[in-house]
Amino acid sequence: MNQPPLQRCREAHAGILLALDNASHAANRPDPVRLLAVSKTRTAAEVAALAETGQRAFGENYVQEALPKVEALRELGLEWHLIGHLQSNKADAAARSFDWVQSLDRPRLVAVLARHRPAGLPPLNVLLQVNIDDEASKHGCAPADVAALADAVAAEPRLRLRGLMAIPAPHADIARRREAFRAMRALFDALQARHPGIDTLSMGMSEDYVPAIEEGATMVRIGSALFGARPAKTDL
Ligand SMILES: *Cc1c(COP(=O)(O)O)cnc(C)c1O
Repeated sequence: MNQPPLQRCREAHAGILLALDNASHAANRPDPVRLLAVSKTRTAAEVAALAETGQRAFGENYVQEALPKVEALRELGLEWHLIGHLQSNKADAAARSFDWVQSLDRPRLVAVLARHRPAGLPPLNVLLQVNIDDEASKHGCAPADVAALADAVAAEPRLRLRGLMAIPAPHADIARRREAFRAMRALFDALQARHPGIDTLSMGMSEDYVPAIEEGATMVRIGSALFGARPAKTDL
């Protein structure tokens, strides 16, 4: 209770790694599930402190919020993932500063990201965001559009298609979320038959990462369970 926040964060990180390990074993998963630490609203100092534990991958929702952190922490060699909606006018900055874009959801972004990915960097890793619950308020492409969008990404040498991402509707009933995870897994398997190189299914957050892993997630995105609750004003 009297622990400094830093210590609490490190302990939460160790606890989540253990829980991920247990869930992966229980679900008979051959490969370790990757943890993406969602650092939106957190400072560069908080990210640096968590990076000391060996955590490499960090997720940000807004390009503008992420750029100063990416700049400040460049020498740490962290892996930055954009997980929020990408506006077309921010795509050039995203292509220069992130290692992964998990929120590609429309054809227009493909060419812009490819054109702006600097020649000196490896290809930009891309996940297609799918609006799996068909929510009017959510970004993401329709499941029916995944194949064509994937083909477009795969045709760009400066992009590397890695898989799919989803944010299922936050049903209080975990069984409903599980249905969405299962539908994502089916989409992922179908896409893998078409693009055998893909390896990443990004789904599951603080509240539901265990069922997500049980249904096939290879990467979970965790913010509040790691860093503590976000201030309500900036909560997403
Ligand atoms: C904020 C956010 C997360 C993390 O959510 P928590 O509930 O804090 O773990 C994961 N994915 C996306 C896309 C987010 O915006």
